[in-house]
Amino acid sequence: MKHKLLLPIFLFLSFIARSQEKILDARIWLDGRTMQDLVVAGLEADHGFYEPGVYFRSEFSSLELIRVKKAGFRIDTFETDVQARYLRENARRQPVRTVAAADRSQSPCEDFGSASAETPVNYTYGSMGGYYTYEEYLAILDDMHAKFPHLISERKPVHESLLTHEGRPQWFVRISDNPNTDETGEAEALYTAIHHAREPNSLTHLIYFMWHLLENYDRDPDLRYLLNQTELYFIPCLNPDGYIYNQTTNPDGGGFWRKNRRDNGDGTFGVDLNRNYGYNWGVGNGSSPTTSSEVYRGPAAFSEPETQMARAFIEAHNFEVVLNCHTSGNKMVHPWGYENSVPTPDFTTLAEWLTRESGYLHGSCWQTLGYLACGTSDDWMYGEKDRLAYTPETGTSFWPFIDQIDGNNKSMFQTNLSAAWYALGGAVIRHLPGASLNGNVLQAPFKVRQYEIGTAPVQISFEALSNNIASFAPVANLTIEDFESSSFVALINLSGTLQPGEEVRFVARAERQGQIHADTVVWEFQPSPYVVAVEDDLESGSGIWSPNTFWGATTEYAFSPGKSMTDSPNDVYTEMENFLITKDKVAIPPDATEARLRFFALWDIDPGLDWAQVLVKTDLNAVEEPLQGSLTTYNSNLAQYVYEGTHLYWEEECMDLGAYLGQKFYLIFSMISFSGNPDGRDGFYFDDLVLEYRTESGVHTIELHPECQVSAQPNPASGQTRLHWSGEQGVGHQLDIVDASGKILQQIALPEDSGAYTLQTAGWPAGVYWYRLYSDRGV
Ligand SMILES: [Zn+2]
Repeated sequence: MKHKLLLPIFLFLSFIARSQEKILDARIWLDGRTMQDLVVAGLEADHGFYEPGVYFRSEFSSLELIRVKKAGFRIDTFETDVQARYLRENARRQPVRTVAAADRSQSPCEDFGSASAETPVNYTYGSMGGYYTYEEYLAILDDMHAKFPHLISERKPVHESLLTHEGRPQWFVRISDNPNTDETGEAEALYTAIHHAREPNSLTHLIYFMWHLLENYDRDPDLRYLLNQTELYFIPCLNPDGYIYNQTTNPDGGGFWRKNRRDNGDGTFGVDLNRNYGYNWGVGNGSSPTTSSEVYRGPAAFSEPETQMARAFIEAHNFEVVLNCHTSGNKMVHPWGYENSVPTPDFTTLAEWLTRESGYLHGSCWQTLGYLACGTSDDWMYGEKDRLAYTPETGTSFWPFIDQIDGNNKSMFQTNLSAAWYALGGAVIRHLPGASLNGNVLQAPFKVRQYEIGTAPVQISFEALSNNIASFAPVANLTIEDFESSSFVALINLSGTLQPGEEVRFVARAERQGQIHADTVVWEFQPSPYVVAVEDDLESGSGIWSPNTFWGATTEYAFSPGKSMTDSPNDVYTEMENFLITKDKVAIPPDATEARLRFFALWDIDPGLDWAQVLVKTDLNAVEEPLQGSLTTYNSNLAQYVYEGTHLYWEEECMDLGAYLGQKFYLIFSMISFSGNPDGRDGFYFDDLVLEYRTESGVHTIELHPECQVSAQPNPASGQTRLHWSGEQGVGHQLDIVDASGKILQQIALPEDSGAYTLQTAGWPAGVYWYRLYSDRGV
């Protein structure tokens, strides 16, 4: 009975103590001291805005600010009650969702790997100021599985027996083509959020990303290829006790509890889970031994069930990359945390690519925030387990307002998606639209993008799947820089004249250091739906272009052998404003439904004051209108799309001319330099230009068929082996087993889109056997 009476009183006191601790928005001046001095004085400095050597601004508890003031720091306070401000402001604001400006599948220009700006259809706002309550979060995982059972597993506990201090499991899900199986050999990536309880926007951007994957698998062949060959794991809420604590104290959002909910036995609660991992745990001043500190490291390395569960999960998998998502600061932090150094340049190389759209500042804790942190998730994951682990810090506050959530979700989208491509690795090959027949030679353009650090030759090979192919012209090995791409045109010699409707089928493979990616191409011969309005391979030099003092044809580089066109054929470019303009106007007839400009380009242009563009103008005195293409970038000073910086590989550009249907205009290439070109750069090159249009009746002639996947376990096998396959939805499949001489040993009809089949191999002689998965639309 005594206990029953004591308990409520204790809880009441604890609530009073908690409610007195106000959260303030403040700037702390460093005045010649360092961030490390701030951390030693008792501050949590993981998240916030750091002006190196000058100040640190974030949201702090009154207790933290008292400590810092005692240590002699000057403080400006912008808001004395961040939680009240949050509730007041948030109530005035509305949720936001963005829809795509146009359906990309309708565009005649498509690129691969490009991100969608559209908020997923299934993405919802939660009831906690726009964020999800814990129950809402679990319901979303269940809803994902109910709607997409073939792509996402049921949620399962991260650990089979361990639970948090308050008795909860952590939950994980797997997104892949066979989500209920851990398929051997598939590349793995891990995404976590909510190490820190008060960072709910890190949870929402993962949910946003997950919905995007699920909703777009069927319609996006690149995404399908990616998910067919990778397993993406998500632990979106690593610290459920802390998260629920915030939800309990602040049901409308704005709760500022950071740590887990360990009872420290001295009236304080919580361990900072991101100081509890066991690599250089507790060294130096990178964490605190004080139980009341926001960066309390716990009584021992891995003392907390939450980090123990995460440790076991990491040890049971082979993650190529891990994103441990936090808020805030618009940064991406990586090892080391415990000392001022970066363990491998790979961290920087990958970080540059992962943050190329968000523009997040990236570096070690010291580089980005000017202090040290020990016992972090990333240090342990890399230091002990050799995983490239990153901590993205999204947004500008712990509780961004409801109308900022969507933008923050998007800011992480490309990072999240690129991490999955990096996990897949290798050089991914994909055909581009625009294959054409030249006599008995099929010319099929391809693009290869390398999701790998370090240059190594990429070997291109082909395999005929239809017997109308006589041979493939060999393709020289490609050498591609980190995360760059390269294009080439495959020349396929056909054995005879094609009949309308006849298909040419083949597989193109890109092998890099033993890793192979493949693309199955089925090209159906039909008279081209596109009508060529202008075509120039630049072999005749000025050809269709007005005479020009600067621009000219060159043999220095060329996409198709011979010549290309460049702004400075004899030297590097100089300070100039120079336009290459067609002699005559180009006309797109009024009955055209689509028009596009295609050419191959490479460039090296000072990104400061110099740029190249493609422009049109309807009359010589009219204003030039710049075109946007799949390779242009937005220059915010000009507020226009341009080519600038370095792009030293030929790549096909495609520009939608849908705005000019029924019009006549001059086509212009411009090269503008105000810098004087101090680095001696070489300017802009283009080759193989085609301006074409189509009318309503046209049909696309080249189609990508979803890659069919087969894997065998065990392999090699004796007695029996189990084949797992996944193919195209709603299409029948057949599996052939072929011996080394090409003889078909067995044919198996597969009724489902995906599944497993046990193959009896006991009677077979030892040797190498091939399997081939057919659908009625591809192999
Ligand atoms: Zn955090």
